[in-house]
Amino acid sequence: MSKTVIVVGSGNAALCAGIAALEAGASVLMLEKADEALAGGNTKYTAGAMRFAYDGHDDLIPLLRDPNDARLATTDFGSYTTDQFASDLLGFNGGRPLSEEQQKLVYQSGDTLKWLASHGVLFEPIYSRQSFERDGRRVFWGGLTLAAENEGVGLFDMELAAFKRLGGTIRYQAAVTGLMQKDGQIIGVKVGDEEIAADAVVLASGGFEANDAMRVDHFGQNWAKAKVRGTPNNTGDGLTMALAAGAASHGLYDGCHATPMDLHMADYGGLHLPPSERKNYRKICYFLGIMLNAKGERFVDEGENFRNYTYAQFGRAILDQPGQFAWQIFDSKVFDMLYGEYTFHDAHFVEAETLEALMPQLEGVDGIAAAATIDRFNDAVNDAPFDPTILDGKATEGLDLPKSNWAQKIDTGPFRAYPVTGGITFTYGGLKVSDAGAVMAEDGHPMSGLYACGEMVGGVFYEGYPGGSGLTSGAVFGRSAGTNAAVG
Ligand SMILES: Cc1cc2nc3c(=O)[nH]c(=O)nc-3n(C[C@H](O)[C@H](O)[C@H](O)COP(=O)(O)OP(=O)(O)OC[C@H]3O[C@@H](n4cnc5c(N)ncnc54)[C@H](O)[C@@H]3O)c2cc1C
Repeated sequence: MSKTVIVVGSGNAALCAGIAALEAGASVLMLEKADEALAGGNTKYTAGAMRFAYDGHDDLIPLLRDPNDARLATTDFGSYTTDQFASDLLGFNGGRPLSEEQQKLVYQSGDTLKWLASHGVLFEPIYSRQSFERDGRRVFWGGLTLAAENEGVGLFDMELAAFKRLGGTIRYQAAVTGLMQKDGQIIGVKVGDEEIAADAVVLASGGFEANDAMRVDHFGQNWAKAKVRGTPNNTGDGLTMALAAGAASHGLYDGCHATPMDLHMADYGGLHLPPSERKNYRKICYFLGIMLNAKGERFVDEGENFRNYTYAQFGRAILDQPGQFAWQIFDSKVFDMLYGEYTFHDAHFVEAETLEALMPQLEGVDGIAAAATIDRFNDAVNDAPFDPTILDGKATEGLDLPKSNWAQKIDTGPFRAYPVTGGITFTYGGLKVSDAGAVMAEDGHPMSGLYACGEMVGGVFYEGYPGGSGLTSGAVFGRSAGTNAAVG
């Protein structure tokens, strides 16, 4: 008789677990807390980009929605080896070695993409953001080449279609509130008063980024006001249930991905916006100007490195400031270089012809101190030429807190200032899972009948992550949890 598997959540990790469990012969019920419109969790907010190891062009063609795209003949995808993927992860590990979870992610990434494609989840090259033109050819850089057709929403739609094709059932507005346990075995879940029995339960209900109290507990009081970039529904429910049932916690519980965001955005991500606008509350051009806190002081080296390497940390730096806000200040020399998110119709900013007129508009800021900070900054700027395409060494000299690159004087009106705060993307702490995806108990043994995947798995990310790894991690761990839940 086939096993019954309950999957909690309906994001990328949950759907991969569901598809794998169905493929392995189980009957699967997926329980999603949100209504149909918000199902799919953070997965729907993404660009659908997935990072994986591949040897070259021939590995990518079978993954594409349109393998006959005429542009492919003049495209160089290069290769992205498992060593490169491992090295990219290590770059964010703060000196830690590659964890078991990271090894699994790296070595199963390529095969997992093929598996997704075999279920009709197909991809397209990310020409606009990950390639540039050279000698008439399109050359990809950075190891990230493919995204699901129609981004995160498309990924969700294709995975849900595969799940349903294989016979899976999904219930919306069915928040799981507890685990049923008997003789040390997980035997089902509770949805309020309702008890639903199953041979195995796969938890794929995301991290705790949208839980105000858990953020404060793990990151500190300053995180109470953090914006949440994605779904309001990832409130750590699965983690809380699993830990209460005896699961071991694992990974960096005070670690998360957090970026500078518009202070006046809604508290959660805007799934109502068209995909092209969904990222526009992010404000990550600070490297072209400076950031000032309520005391009128700078608090980070805005030009420490390319923004890819600082944006996921500077959200936290802003939340550490008094009042948990800052203002990003730019002069007209860089207006044309600011990303579209700064001219987006719902971008909040103030503008003035002179710095004297700008200062009183910086709500919450000591304007006299702010003006003095800008004066000192301008006086400290060296004569190196400005070049935003390289680490240009155009730096301040003699300041306690330097700006190490792209330090142009802020001296040419008009001037603009954007109010920002920190926005959390997802949390890094989670559960320890076995190679089979089973949740490990505090005593070091796998918990019978309980599996976990996606943002719930600890030990995958520490101090940041190479873009596109979150979804791949969900797919790798989801697939193995689903398969083993069905046969284990
Ligand atoms: C704005 C944004 C952009 C991102 N961009 C990228 C990107 O381009 N590439 C990338 O790889 N990663 C990206 N990420 C990270 C990525 O979203 C996550 O790594 C990934 O989607 C997590 O998948 P998941 O299935 O674990 O969680 P989710 O997709 O969040 O799914 C969790 C689901 O569980 C449900 N749930 C919660 N509690 C319960 C409960 N008690 N009962 C039932 N259901 C419950 C939630 O409603 C949700 O549907 C981005 C994240 C955000 C917020």
